[in-house]
Amino acid sequence: SDARLSDYERISVLGHGNGGTVYKARHRRSSQPLALKIFAAGDPSAAREAEILMLAADAPHVVRLHAVIPAAAVAAGEAPAALALELMPGGSLAGLLRRLGRPMGERPIAAVARQALLGLAALHALRVVHRDLKPSNLLVGSDGEVKIADFGAGKVLRRRLDPCASYVGTAAYMSPERFDPEAYSGDYDPYAADVWSLGVDILELYLGHFPLLPEGQRPDWAALMCAICFGEAPEPPAAASEEFRDFVARCLEKKAGQRASVAELLEHPFVAERDAAGAQQALAALVAEAEQGDL
Ligand code: ATP
Ligand code: MG
Repeated sequence: SDARLSDYERISVLGHGNGGTVYKARHRRSSQPLALKIFAAGDPSAAREAEILMLAADAPHVVRLHAVIPAAAVAAGEAPAALALELMPGGSLAGLLRRLGRPMGERPIAAVARQALLGLAALHALRVVHRDLKPSNLLVGSDGEVKIADFGAGKVLRRRLDPCASYVGTAAYMSPERFDPEAYSGDYDPYAADVWSLGVDILELYLGHFPLLPEGQRPDWAALMCAICFGEAPEPPAAASEEFRDFVARCLEKKAGQRASVAELLEHPFVAERDAAGAQQALAALVAEAEQGDL
């Protein structure tokens, strides 16, 4: 039988997005804590997100889908479709950065990078491109586990050159070739766009602010397009380690064809497997610190 909105008790708001609102909730019968993402009426991204989350049900480092609440099961006049998702108690990396009030160090960032890459590898193997990888769409567990969320802009590629030409997602994290796909037609790798976005994300975590515009400048579409397509790729300051600087440079290669692949990045010393557990602990410590600050 179908899940219904009334099966869940809403406890608090976790986040607002373009599409709707995400609540911390509890499944009434089982008492299981969940995240309930409620979409605005007729939002087509609801179906897209549900399809991709079902397809990626076994993918590591992708948020789990517990139930799809169809529009028909909701009382008339109320919000339509909703998704019951695994609750990630650390919230998003954007929220974590805000609550910490300072940039993150390389070690916890390595945990983010490695786990996001593992998630991307699994998604890309399923022919799924995310297209909106930004700090507010990467969620953290209290143990420092990182999962990719929000597939409202995602796409399952039926054909290889079915690319990401449309302007979905957030312009700020879009790769240069996505602004001008025609210039790149022929050897267009739609998956490379997610690698660029990951590079912007981890640089943002390191700097503590969005790296492509001067701090405080309003990220309007024209300014972003100029910075991304005509500016130099941003890089970490000289104080950063050589590994980190190289890793970011490999992600933020402006020519999509020269950008590192997910598989290549998983071999990069910055995300070395031998330090994975320690890096994840460093991230868990930041989550705990942010929680202390909330009290
Ligand atoms: P946007 O349009 O801003 O990208 P959205 O409407 O597509 O947002 P999400 O990105 O899925 O919605 O979620 C919005 C916010 O809610 C996230 O940034 C995060 O802070 C919180 N959130 C979403 N899902 C979860 C979850 N499973 N566990 C904990 N927090 C979550
Ligand atoms: Mg989002």
